[in-house]
Amino acid sequence: MRVVVGTKNAHKVLELQRILEPLIPGLVLEPSPEDSPVEDGDTFSANALIKARSAFQATGRPALADDSGIEVAALDGRPGIFSARYAPSGLDQDNTALLLQEMAGVTHRAAAFVCAAALVHDGGEVVLERRWEGVVAPAPAGSGGFGYDPVFVPEGHSVTSAELTPEEKDQLSHRGQAFRALAPAIIALG
Ligand code: IMP
Repeated sequence: MRVVVGTKNAHKVLELQRILEPLIPGLVLEPSPEDSPVEDGDTFSANALIKARSAFQATGRPALADDSGIEVAALDGRPGIFSARYAPSGLDQDNTALLLQEMAGVTHRAAAFVCAAALVHDGGEVVLERRWEGVVAPAPAGSGGFGYDPVFVPEGHSVTSAELTPEEKDQLSHRGQAFRALAPAIIALG
Protein backbone atom coordinates (compact mmCIF):
# COMPACT_ATOMS: atom_id res chain seq x y z
CA MET A 1 0.00 0.00 0.00
CA ARG A 2 1.38 3.43 -0.98
CA VAL A 3 0.69 6.35 1.30
CA VAL A 4 2.12 9.88 1.14
CA VAL A 5 3.38 11.73 4.20
CA GLY A 6 2.77 15.47 4.51
CA THR A 7 6.32 16.41 5.45
CA LYS A 8 9.59 17.48 3.82
CA ASN A 9 11.46 15.76 6.65
CA ALA A 10 12.99 12.45 5.44
CA HIS A 11 13.80 11.59 9.07
CA LYS A 12 10.07 11.71 9.90
CA VAL A 13 9.16 9.44 6.95
CA LEU A 14 11.74 6.88 8.14
CA GLU A 15 10.47 7.11 11.71
CA LEU A 16 6.84 6.54 10.64
CA GLN A 17 7.94 3.66 8.40
CA ARG A 18 9.71 2.06 11.39
CA ILE A 19 6.60 2.49 13.59
CA LEU A 20 4.02 1.29 11.05
CA GLU A 21 5.85 -1.42 9.08
CA PRO A 22 5.43 -4.13 11.77
CA LEU A 23 1.67 -3.46 11.84
CA ILE A 24 1.19 -2.94 8.08
CA PRO A 25 3.61 -5.19 6.15
CA GLY A 26 4.28 -3.89 2.65
CA LEU A 27 3.39 -0.29 3.52
CA VAL A 28 5.36 2.17 1.37
CA LEU A 29 5.55 5.74 2.69
CA GLU A 30 6.66 8.57 0.41
CA PRO A 31 7.24 12.24 1.24
CA SER A 32 4.67 14.54 -0.35
CA PRO A 33 6.08 16.41 -3.38
CA GLU A 34 4.19 19.65 -2.62
CA ASP A 35 5.43 22.66 -0.66
CA SER A 36 4.67 22.66 3.05
CA PRO A 37 1.37 24.40 3.76
CA VAL A 38 1.06 27.24 6.29
CA GLU A 39 0.41 25.65 9.70
CA ASP A 40 -1.96 28.22 11.13
CA GLY A 41 -4.17 25.93 13.22
CA ASP A 42 -4.36 26.53 16.96
CA THR A 43 -4.15 22.86 18.02
CA PHE A 44 -1.87 19.94 17.18
CA SER A 45 -4.84 18.17 15.53
CA ALA A 46 -5.76 21.18 13.38
CA ASN A 47 -2.17 21.47 12.11
CA ALA A 48 -1.84 17.71 11.44
CA LEU A 49 -5.05 17.86 9.37
CA ILE A 50 -3.82 20.91 7.42
CA LYS A 51 -0.65 18.98 6.42
CA ALA A 52 -2.49 15.72 5.58
CA ARG A 53 -5.23 17.50 3.57
CA SER A 54 -2.63 19.42 1.60
CA ALA A 55 -0.68 16.22 0.75
CA PHE A 56 -3.90 14.44 -0.22
CA GLN A 57 -5.02 17.32 -2.45
CA ALA A 58 -1.61 17.44 -4.17
CA THR A 59 -1.36 13.71 -4.89
CA GLY A 60 -4.87 12.23 -4.76
CA ARG A 61 -3.40 9.45 -2.62
CA PRO A 62 -4.12 8.60 1.03
CA ALA A 63 -2.05 10.99 3.12
CA LEU A 64 -0.63 10.88 6.63
CA ALA A 65 0.76 13.78 8.63
CA ASP A 66 1.61 14.62 12.20
CA ASP A 67 2.06 17.67 14.36
CA SER A 68 3.88 17.46 17.65
CA GLY A 69 5.54 19.38 20.42
CA ILE A 70 6.21 19.60 24.13
CA GLU A 71 3.79 21.04 26.71
CA VAL A 72 5.27 22.17 30.02
CA ALA A 73 2.82 22.46 32.93
CA ALA A 74 4.68 25.23 34.80
CA LEU A 75 4.71 27.30 31.57
CA ASP A 76 0.93 26.92 31.08
CA GLY A 77 1.49 24.41 28.27
CA ARG A 78 4.13 26.40 26.38
CA PRO A 79 5.84 25.94 23.95
CA GLY A 80 3.11 23.56 22.71
CA ILE A 81 2.30 23.99 19.02
CA PHE A 82 5.15 26.52 18.79
CA SER A 83 7.81 24.01 19.93
CA ALA A 84 9.77 24.06 16.65
CA ARG A 85 9.96 27.88 16.71
CA TYR A 86 10.35 28.49 20.46
CA ALA A 87 13.75 30.24 20.26
CA PRO A 88 14.00 32.81 17.44
CA SER A 89 16.59 30.70 15.54
CA GLY A 90 14.42 27.55 15.74
CA LEU A 91 17.60 25.51 16.31
CA ASP A 92 17.20 22.49 18.61
CA GLN A 93 20.00 23.56 20.93
CA ASP A 94 18.59 27.10 21.24
CA ASN A 95 15.06 25.79 21.89
CA THR A 96 16.27 23.47 24.66
CA ALA A 97 18.51 26.17 26.17
CA LEU A 98 15.56 28.59 26.30
CA LEU A 99 13.37 25.93 27.92
CA LEU A 100 15.98 25.20 30.60
CA GLN A 101 16.40 28.95 31.19
CA GLU A 102 12.65 29.40 31.68
CA MET A 103 12.58 26.40 34.03
CA ALA A 104 15.55 27.56 36.14
CA GLY A 105 14.58 27.30 39.81
CA VAL A 106 11.17 25.76 38.99
CA THR A 107 10.54 22.62 41.05
CA HIS A 108 7.28 21.53 39.34
CA ARG A 109 8.82 20.10 36.15
CA ALA A 110 5.98 18.02 34.63
CA ALA A 111 5.93 18.01 30.82
CA ALA A 112 4.49 15.92 28.01
CA PHE A 113 5.32 15.35 24.38
CA VAL A 114 2.09 15.47 22.35
CA CYS A 115 1.50 14.10 18.84
CA ALA A 116 -1.54 14.45 16.62
CA ALA A 117 -1.62 11.91 13.78
CA ALA A 118 -3.92 12.51 10.81
CA LEU A 119 -5.06 10.41 7.85
CA VAL A 120 -6.92 12.02 4.94
CA HIS A 121 -8.24 9.95 2.01
CA ASP A 122 -11.08 10.11 -0.48
CA GLY A 123 -13.42 8.46 2.02
CA GLY A 124 -12.82 10.86 4.89
CA GLU A 125 -10.49 12.06 7.64
CA VAL A 126 -9.25 10.68 10.97
CA VAL A 127 -7.16 12.55 13.53
CA LEU A 128 -6.14 11.50 17.04
CA GLU A 129 -3.73 12.71 19.75
CA ARG A 130 -1.50 10.85 22.17
CA ARG A 131 0.68 12.14 25.05
CA TRP A 132 3.98 10.93 26.51
CA GLU A 133 4.27 12.16 30.09
CA GLY A 134 7.56 13.02 31.84
CA VAL A 135 9.56 15.84 33.37
CA VAL A 136 12.00 18.49 32.14
CA ALA A 137 15.55 17.39 33.04
CA PRO A 138 17.79 19.76 35.01
CA ALA A 139 20.41 19.69 32.20
CA PRO A 140 20.70 18.15 28.71
CA ALA A 141 21.86 14.52 28.46
CA GLY A 142 22.19 12.03 25.60
CA SER A 143 22.90 12.30 21.91
CA GLY A 144 20.05 10.33 20.30
CA GLY A 145 16.75 11.62 18.94
CA PHE A 146 16.20 15.28 18.10
CA GLY A 147 14.49 18.42 19.36
CA TYR A 148 13.79 18.39 23.10
CA ASP A 149 14.87 14.74 23.62
CA PRO A 150 18.01 15.66 25.63
CA VAL A 151 15.90 17.55 28.21
CA PHE A 152 12.90 15.17 28.54
CA VAL A 153 12.91 12.37 31.12
CA PRO A 154 9.98 10.02 30.44
CA GLU A 155 7.80 8.95 33.37
CA GLY A 156 9.17 5.73 34.93
CA HIS A 157 12.68 6.34 33.55
CA SER A 158 15.83 7.92 34.95
CA VAL A 159 17.40 8.82 31.58
CA THR A 160 16.34 11.31 28.91
CA SER A 161 14.61 10.25 25.70
CA ALA A 162 17.88 11.13 23.90
CA GLU A 163 19.47 8.23 25.84
CA LEU A 164 16.94 5.63 24.63
CA THR A 165 17.50 3.55 21.49
CA PRO A 166 15.22 4.52 18.55
CA GLU A 167 13.26 1.29 19.09
CA GLU A 168 12.81 1.97 22.82
CA LYS A 169 11.66 5.50 22.04
CA ASP A 170 9.16 4.30 19.38
CA GLN A 171 7.56 1.90 21.89
CA LEU A 172 6.92 4.69 24.39
CA SER A 173 6.70 7.90 22.42
CA HIS A 174 3.75 10.14 21.64
CA ARG A 175 4.39 9.56 17.89
CA GLY A 176 4.62 5.77 18.29
CA GLN A 177 1.40 5.68 20.31
CA ALA A 178 -0.49 7.98 17.92
CA PHE A 179 0.47 6.19 14.69
CA ARG A 180 -0.08 2.72 16.16
CA ALA A 181 -3.59 3.91 17.14
CA LEU A 182 -4.10 5.17 13.57
CA ALA A 183 -2.92 1.90 11.97
CA PRO A 184 -6.38 0.24 11.84
CA ALA A 185 -7.73 3.17 9.79
CA ILE A 186 -4.80 2.82 7.35
CA ILE A 187 -5.31 -0.95 7.10
CA ALA A 188 -9.02 -0.39 6.40
CA LEU A 189 -8.04 1.46 3.18
CA GLY A 190 -7.11 -1.98 1.88
P1 IMP B 1 6.73 19.20 13.97
O1 IMP B 1 5.68 18.30 14.49
O2 IMP B 1 7.56 18.56 12.90
O3 IMP B 1 6.19 20.55 13.61
O4 IMP B 1 7.79 19.42 15.14
C1 IMP B 1 7.48 20.00 16.35
C2 IMP B 1 8.69 20.24 17.24
O5 IMP B 1 8.38 19.62 18.49
C3 IMP B 1 10.02 19.63 16.80
O6 IMP B 1 10.77 20.49 16.05
C4 IMP B 1 10.67 19.37 18.13
O7 IMP B 1 11.28 20.55 18.59
C5 IMP B 1 9.51 19.03 19.05
N1 IMP B 1 9.31 17.57 19.10
C6 IMP B 1 8.27 16.87 18.59
N2 IMP B 1 8.44 15.55 18.82
C7 IMP B 1 9.60 15.43 19.46
C8 IMP B 1 10.33 14.29 19.95
O8 IMP B 1 9.96 13.12 19.79
N3 IMP B 1 11.50 14.57 20.56
C9 IMP B 1 11.96 15.83 20.73
N4 IMP B 1 11.34 16.91 20.29
C10 IMP B 1 10.16 16.72 19.66
